[in-house]
Amino acid sequence: MKTVPGLNETTSLGLISPLRQGTIQESFVRHDAHVALPVVSLHEDQYIVDFGKDHSIRYHQVGKNKECSCGVSDCKAVEAVRQYLLAGGRRAESPPERSGCPICGSKTYPDHTWNGKYTRTFGWRCEKGGLSHFLEAKAKRIQKQQAENPWLIPPAMDYPGLRRDDLMTWEQCEAIQNKVSLSTGYDPTA
Ligand SMILES: [Zn+2]
Ligand SMILES: [Zn+2]
Repeated sequence: MKTVPGLNETTSLGLISPLRQGTIQESFVRHDAHVALPVVSLHEDQYIVDFGKDHSIRYHQVGKNKECSCGVSDCKAVEAVRQYLLAGGRRAESPPERSGCPICGSKTYPDHTWNGKYTRTFGWRCEKGGLSHFLEAKAKRIQKQQAENPWLIPPAMDYPGLRRDDLMTWEQCEAIQNKVSLSTGYDPTA
């Protein structure tokens, strides 16, 4: 038996809290069993919830005020964001001074066709510069990363190392090659 002063508090904790926990857990399990967990990503100060392509509204945008852009007051996307944060997901935050396009500072809006598959970053378009500002910002970021860490495999002993730009050149070659074979109709795999 617990000997906590304030008997009323103890009883209310003992009665209500386990009951509540039970309901939350149950609904979570039920939700889990039927649908695959939605994927939550960040776009500036918004959480983007991806319910997968079979869902009628695939992408939901949840703000920090826990409201979903779809307008449904108890939208499952809000719960998905809660679970994501509970699991230690990164919190959305507004950039300190400038929000929006890193090139011109205009407003941006998400463009899901440009989501980074491997970097898990969100695609967007600039209200003024459109997709070109997104690509410009992306290129700058890659350049910065390369300048800070140019080595893919640093040199060791008598191995000369492999620089990132070596690989870029190789990728560019392949891209040009593909373009050439498309225009001439030559298929190297035939
Ligand atoms: Zn929603
Ligand atoms: Zn812009």
